[in-house]
Amino acid sequence: MAKQEDDFKKVISHAKEYGYVTQSSEIYDGLSAVYDYTQNGAELKKNIKEYWWQAMVQLNENIVGIDAAIFMHPTTWKASGHIDAFNDPLIDNKDSKKRYRADVLIEDYVGKIEKKIEKEVEKAAKRFGEAFDKGQFLSTNPRVVKYQEQAREILKRMGRSLEAEDLADVKALIEELEITCPVSGSRNWTDVKQFNLMFGTRLGATAESSMELFLRPETAQGIFVNFSNVQKSGRMKIPFGIAQVGKAFRNEIVARQFIFRMREFEQMEMQFFIRPGEQKKWYEHWKEARMKWHLSLGMGEELYRFHDHEKLAHYADAASDIEFRFPFGFKELEGIHSRTDFDLSSHEKFSGKKLQYFDPELGTHYVPYVIETSIGLDRMFLAVFSNALRDEELEDGSSRTVLKLPAVLAPIKAAVLPLVKKDGLPELAHDIVADLKWDFMVQYDEKDAIGRRYRRQDAAGTPFCITVDHQSLEDRTVTLRSRDSMEQKRVPVAELKEVIQQAVSYRHWLQKSGL
Ligand code: ATP
Repeated sequence: MAKQEDDFKKVISHAKEYGYVTQSSEIYDGLSAVYDYTQNGAELKKNIKEYWWQAMVQLNENIVGIDAAIFMHPTTWKASGHIDAFNDPLIDNKDSKKRYRADVLIEDYVGKIEKKIEKEVEKAAKRFGEAFDKGQFLSTNPRVVKYQEQAREILKRMGRSLEAEDLADVKALIEELEITCPVSGSRNWTDVKQFNLMFGTRLGATAESSMELFLRPETAQGIFVNFSNVQKSGRMKIPFGIAQVGKAFRNEIVARQFIFRMREFEQMEMQFFIRPGEQKKWYEHWKEARMKWHLSLGMGEELYRFHDHEKLAHYADAASDIEFRFPFGFKELEGIHSRTDFDLSSHEKFSGKKLQYFDPELGTHYVPYVIETSIGLDRMFLAVFSNALRDEELEDGSSRTVLKLPAVLAPIKAAVLPLVKKDGLPELAHDIVADLKWDFMVQYDEKDAIGRRYRRQDAAGTPFCITVDHQSLEDRTVTLRSRDSMEQKRVPVAELKEVIQQAVSYRHWLQKSGL
């Protein structure tokens, strides 16, 4: 645990030191759970957005993108169910006065049981060596089977109670499990209450004429209300999708994990409109497609897992999360939801406008069903960034800190470094920058010894360093150093563009995924 916390602290301080993320309004001591992306962070975020947009919109002929407003007519939130049901169950500890999400306390408890299972597996793997069969062990070892049953039972009961709005039972469960407050260590809990997560504001100049509005808590509703506009103007045929990237706001009860849970954040969502009855097929399709997208970044299969929901939101008939192994354990990164016709039907009812599709093949009108994929841009940023940060021991006994971001997402693709600040080397380096900048984000750096400059670029996540030396003046070749392998090779200046392009192009990375 202490190691995990340490690693996470390192991630946060590295993000600040290397120009990625910092607390909002820091000079005024910051604002809780609100963050700013600084020079490198803004680039990384933009690249993640682009990686998603290309995979979703550019590569799918039947998916288009929109950019809807953050403010929406207030009835939207009545229709979507957010006014009545966008609540989290909160509970306070009377001794520490700390506030928690009741469901998260219970999930953390289950997380501890899962850790115990992992430990048993590790022990057994050591004991049995090569002959170890993990699947068999999980299904036959009595202690592990008991742990698994216990975890399943707890989650099932929590799901049932939350669905039935039986908050007294949620509290009873917390008490039965003897869950204590991590701060005070006591079990002195208040009752569980529902808390609505939407931020309210007002539109209009005078108090009497102004209208109460909400900042959108998800981008999806901007897509639903535009369903007919897009379908008709784009002459879209079912199945088709509408994608969007944009800000969302939630007054989260507990927001203590850096950019994992923020009060202002960004989502990348896609609603896929289908024939009623085909939801199972498309739900499986999108689960698979989204996992492929994640795996295309090459960070390792072991970092991801699916978690199918026991408790379904009011709109869903199936839901699964793609969880990522963050420095603090496996947590939700993306949700894939089968939303039925809940949203469009509800908007029909509240607006009085038809939101139907005429299916020429079936010869009938219907309200389409929807499969949604919804990923937090900031959470994706944290996944990529935290996994990339490494301390490496080198062969010569020294060590380095390196940010092994997938090259396609790296903020700066190459740094151009004159070996010395004289003899015409800076001039040639500037010429190289002036040419490459038309295609890539590149940086000129002449300060400090070359080794220090390499280390600085490693820690900032730059995949390539281009070193200009005296030989460069004679034969127009430079040294190209790779961040990950630290390999150096001589490359003609004229070929730099192609070599870098090959390593960082969206095409190269996305094609690998087989999307
Ligand atoms: P959680 O259970 O973590 O609160 P959720 O199930 O409410 O998340 P969704 O409503 O399904 O999340 O939102 C889709 C995605 O938006 C999530 O998978 C997550 O990546 C992102 N997201 C949701 N809330 C936040 C937040 N407060 N800060 C950053 N990202 C968020």
